[in-house]
Amino acid sequence: MRRFEVTEEDKNLIAEAYSALEKARVPGNFFHTVGCCLKAKDGTLYHGVNCDCIHGSCAEFIAVGAAVSDGCHEFDTIVSVHPDGPAGLFSPCGNCRQMLMEYSPDIKVILADENNEIIKTTVSELLPLAWTRLPTGDLMH
Ligand SMILES: [Zn+2]
Repeated sequence: MRRFEVTEEDKNLIAEAYSALEKARVPGNFFHTVGCCLKAKDGTLYHGVNCDCIHGSCAEFIAVGAAVSDGCHEFDTIVSVHPDGPAGLFSPCGNCRQMLMEYSPDIKVILADENNEIIKTTVSELLPLAWTRLPTGDLMH
């Protein structure tokens, strides 16, 4: 697996993801257990938390939706956190990996490896032979 150096800036993204999660934790019926921080290529940070309901949405979708609704379509790095996750991180689910492939196939993802070490790789490494979007907008693999 291709790996990139985990920088101090990456560690700040992890802290930002925890900040988003902490803001979402208020008494009520909803359980926000995952926080996410998405760094755009221009350096702007977008945040998300998972939203629970009968269908629900992952924190990654919320962060990407915040970026896209702000007119941002160029993504650099994404990280999700969960207090009980390996190294306090949360690996994007298969559906999120596919969504990230379609929106930004070169996005980097910070997560923990099998030894609970924090690593940074690309979403394409996490979803080999994925469906990708053609210039026509059609999907193919
Ligand atoms: Zn997901």
